[in-house]
Amino acid sequence: MVERLLGELPSVCALGEIVHLWQRDIRDDERCGCGARFSACTFWKRVGQVAFGGWTNVDVDRVHALRDVVERTRHIPRLAGANLPDAQRADVREYAGYYAKVYAAAAEVSGAAVVVDSSKHSALAHVLRWADDVDLRVVHVVRDARGVAYSWTKTVSRPETDGSDEMTRYSPGRSALLWNAHNAAFGLLSRRGVPVRRIRYEQFLTDPRAALRELADYAGVPAGDDDLAFLGDGYADLGVGHSAAGNPMRFTVGRLPMRRDDAWMRSLPSGQRRLVGAVCAPMLRAYGYPLNPAEVSQEA
Ligand SMILES: [Zn+2]
Repeated sequence: MVERLLGELPSVCALGEIVHLWQRDIRDDERCGCGARFSACTFWKRVGQVAFGGWTNVDVDRVHALRDVVERTRHIPRLAGANLPDAQRADVREYAGYYAKVYAAAAEVSGAAVVVDSSKHSALAHVLRWADDVDLRVVHVVRDARGVAYSWTKTVSRPETDGSDEMTRYSPGRSALLWNAHNAAFGLLSRRGVPVRRIRYEQFLTDPRAALRELADYAGVPAGDDDLAFLGDGYADLGVGHSAAGNPMRFTVGRLPMRRDDAWMRSLPSGQRRLVGAVCAPMLRAYGYPLNPAEVSQEA
């Protein structure tokens, strides 16, 4: 959602989860946010031309092989070091280079000053730290771990595959561990000197206009009142985007209602709520989330 909203700003181009571009788009030809198949989308066709002289020139097996070697959560401690051994550094930079080419080409084709990759993989952000042709600014969106856990238990189909596939689901315990690991990884990235701006999902939805203005400033493309005219009270009016992969919301065109989804407070069983609350307690506290559900409901 944050990506879609940023993408409405005149100097910003939202790309979707580029981490999935190689398989889901280049290989499987899934649908772009504009509704066309990836191979038929004019925007991505031009990006492929500029970046690689056409997508057929991308060695997807090579990208996947590099990903296995460098872009895994277990590699983060190594990636977060002050130095990388030469052999690893070469792999990391080669892998980051594929992304940098896509970003630069997308900026050229769209004319945007800023492109947004919503991949979310913390390991990818650590990889991009080693790319010297990317001016990396990370937006770290956090949400209450119990809301995340509840959302991961729900079944959501992936429209880009015409309903044949569903989004990944996790048990609440597994969600809690992943929540800790990914959030910690972004904290580490910040301590390594990469600009990381943390926003809370719940706060963002309380005042999307102010939040978006702040993010635009952070990205170096300040937004005026006219730029934010697509935001109404409790909704956003979205144009067609070319988000390549990711959340099904990327297909939304027109009015998008924006409400805080606090369904977990009523629907996440209390045992699971306590489990997730306990496992995630230190960081929930650090991010300013009340641990006691009674306080949470009062805040809501
Ligand atoms: Zn498209």
